[in-house]
Amino acid sequence: MKKRVWAGILLLSAMLLNTTACSKGVPTSAVSEPVSLSGKLTATFIDVGQGDATLIQAPSGKVLLIDGGPKDGEVAVLSTLKSKGIRQLSIIATHEDADHITALDNVVNTYDVDKVYLPKMPTKATVTMERFANAVKTKGLKFTSAKAGVSVDLGVGVTAVLLAPVKDTYDQDNNYSAVLKVSYGDTSFLFTGDAEGESERDMIASGANLKATVLKVGHHGSRSSSTDPFMKAVSPKYAVIEVGPNSYGHPTSTILNRLSSSGIKTYRTDQQGTVTAVSDGKSVTFTTEK
Ligand SMILES: [Zn+2]
Repeated sequence: MKKRVWAGILLLSAMLLNTTACSKGVPTSAVSEPVSLSGKLTATFIDVGQGDATLIQAPSGKVLLIDGGPKDGEVAVLSTLKSKGIRQLSIIATHEDADHITALDNVVNTYDVDKVYLPKMPTKATVTMERFANAVKTKGLKFTSAKAGVSVDLGVGVTAVLLAPVKDTYDQDNNYSAVLKVSYGDTSFLFTGDAEGESERDMIASGANLKATVLKVGHHGSRSSSTDPFMKAVSPKYAVIEVGPNSYGHPTSTILNRLSSSGIKTYRTDQQGTVTAVSDGKSVTFTTEK
């Protein structure tokens, strides 16, 4: 009788121990890793002189080049891609102006390119545009139409959506500019190309959320862009002006004053060289070449 009781106690103890061991094991395998924004999103505003070229590197490893600068900036674009060890990327040509697309044929020829976005606009049929279009065709690619509502894939954790062009007819070529909003965690970037007042009005009227932490100032700081209502809608904390020596008076004092009077910390590639903005999903920090 006694033996049976002891055997029963031993068996019960073993079962309890086993249960404890199991219950310890279960939570570890059942609870998934917390979602974290451990990666960083980097936007490099490359000093290409008078023109635009911005490289975005997402936490997923996906890369996007917005514009390819003027002729003088070609070396800067290609050396930036090389120094960062880029192999594969997508491209947005905001519009056909030479100060935005000149290096892009070389980029297409050299790199593994996923997608090339370009707005549908009355083509300028320039030699530069022809070279770019030929490079895209030779690579077996086709232009993807850049217009409001189109998403760009920058991988997990990042949302990238085009907010312009809203319409398909404009008087000014600059207003066809593809405008991209990139959101990562609590931070966001608005890349505006050369979009001017008319496109800014259309973006506001479209009801899109224009608010952004960082604004790439439209059209190199020209007075024709960065209208008051647009600046209020975006209400950025930081602004970057991609500009070089030019005869247009860019950036204009009107826009510089508008930025400073709103307390927006402004960076300029003509004064500070290449400007790098890094987001950890909570805030954005800047470093400059000069
Ligand atoms: Zn331009």
